[in-house]
Amino acid sequence: MRKGTKVGKCKLCLETKELNFEHIPPRSAFNKETKYYTLDQTEYYKKAKEYTFENLKPKSRKEQGGIGSYSFCIKCNSYLGSKYVRTYKKFAHIAMNIIQSNDIKIKAFQFDISDINLLNFLKQITAIFIASNNFIFTECYPELLEFVKNENSNELPEKYRFYMYLNNEGQNRNGNIHYTNLYGTICEFTFSPFGFVLSIDNTNQLIKLTEITSFKNYDKNRKLLNSNIILNKYPTFYPFPMDYRSEKELKGET
Ligand SMILES: [Zn+2]
Repeated sequence: MRKGTKVGKCKLCLETKELNFEHIPPRSAFNKETKYYTLDQTEYYKKAKEYTFENLKPKSRKEQGGIGSYSFCIKCNSYLGSKYVRTYKKFAHIAMNIIQSNDIKIKAFQFDISDINLLNFLKQITAIFIASNNFIFTECYPELLEFVKNENSNELPEKYRFYMYLNNEGQNRNGNIHYTNLYGTICEFTFSPFGFVLSIDNTNQLIKLTEITSFKNYDKNRKLLNSNIILNKYPTFYPFPMDYRSEKELKGET
């Protein structure tokens, strides 16, 4: 299937223009030749076990060439590409190397992030959540749009909190907004080597994950030496947000 351009409304500048296929996450961050199925969410929720462990195959056609959608116009796409994508790619490659070159049983890793532009990284994550949701999302949360559109802005209200973890087992999570009993309003996006959670209007910290909201205050002119981050590694076998049960737990083997 050729992934050319389409006319539609851009999720960043909100103008109706020619949109091009945006890889989510960036193509350069291990999303070039991804093979995948698109599944109806309700169907996937109902039959999570069958799809995950019992070899049930989706009826849809298998696609390849990277996951993504027609979310942004050509101009906004190249803006994101030139401003934020490189940082995301750099961090993703570091994380993937660390996960792959260590024992699979290790559950947490510490990284040196002193040479990552954390503000750009957070803006790229925000762009992923914008691309993953429909227009109502940024109508309700316009500050997210402003945060991405203005490369120098450190401003984002406190009600938006970001978290991350490492991932290399299970399924991708698509970043769609969920209203949960336990965690309030959250979006979760997972694509190895990372998982990200955006929590909205929840004053409680999500304790399983590493909070990265403070990345918004990053100042490239005042870099910290030896700044480290500890990230847990979680599997994502089922499509439910914040569900990190292992294969053994899900199969009742522990
Ligand atoms: Zn645009």
